[in-house]
Amino acid sequence: MDDVERAADRIATRVAEGLPIVCFTGAGISQESGIPTFRGESGLWAERDPELVATAEALERDPEAVWRFHEELRAMCREADPNAAHMALAWMETAVAERAPAPVITQNIDGLHQAAGSSNVIELHGNAGRVRCTACEFVSEDLPERFDRLPPLCECGAILRPDVVWFGEQLPRQAMEDAQRWSRLAGVMLIVGTSATVQPAASLPVMAFRSGAVLIEVNPEATALSAVVDVSLRGPAGEVMPELVEELSSELAD
Ligand code: NAD
Repeated sequence: MDDVERAADRIATRVAEGLPIVCFTGAGISQESGIPTFRGESGLWAERDPELVATAEALERDPEAVWRFHEELRAMCREADPNAAHMALAWMETAVAERAPAPVITQNIDGLHQAAGSSNVIELHGNAGRVRCTACEFVSEDLPERFDRLPPLCECGAILRPDVVWFGEQLPRQAMEDAQRWSRLAGVMLIVGTSATVQPAASLPVMAFRSGAVLIEVNPEATALSAVVDVSLRGPAGEVMPELVEELSSELAD
């Protein structure tokens, strides 16, 4: 049995038991859609200091610079299409739906899981295509392609900000509670395209492991989790995930 077969076999066994197949994804799954990861040589932070463009302090100090960076990121996310890995996860949700839930917990802010058709997506770090007011309760996803002026303002007069989690900020409470609940219930956690170093999100695979989940990792490189996972599938998610779901579909049909 090769590693893909072994991973598919583990998933099929847990599906048969009715246990959740929880997917935990990071920037790597969107790399083949043309959105760079944050770390590494071609990463977004290779040329920029996050302190200057992705913190609440930066927004206060230089809102225009923060928004110029964010508008670049927002356009990149809007123009990207889901790749074969996003599609494979959406397919898997449908394929197992009658027997087991398959939620996606993502650290990504690009909305590509929803674009691929995944229906149960928990966004831990917000969404680049949404804004909220820094003063009142206003939140909106109905945004122009480009704002006429930066920073954009709320009707109340205060500055709007991207509805994403910046460095040093808390994760949205409801999203984190949902993610923790699924991590404790998981029969399998499929960890795709994340270095698993950004806390507190990185604590979720550990929580799943301690609750008895089988961990399967999809990543071209070894990560902090590689030593504890059951199966490591080394390769780009856009190649590995379709192979995995194809194998899973024949296992489920048996
Ligand atoms: P990371 O940048 O720390 O790590 C990315 C991981 O993806 C690495 O382990 C790398 O080996 C792996 N990878 C690279 N190419 C891959 C591929 N083709 N297939 C599978 N894996 C691949 O990313 P992270 O762990 O997600 O954490 C970074 C933070 O940055 C997150 O909090 C996230 O919010 C944010 N982020 C989001 C996006 C996005 O929305 N697309 C993009 C960049 C960063």
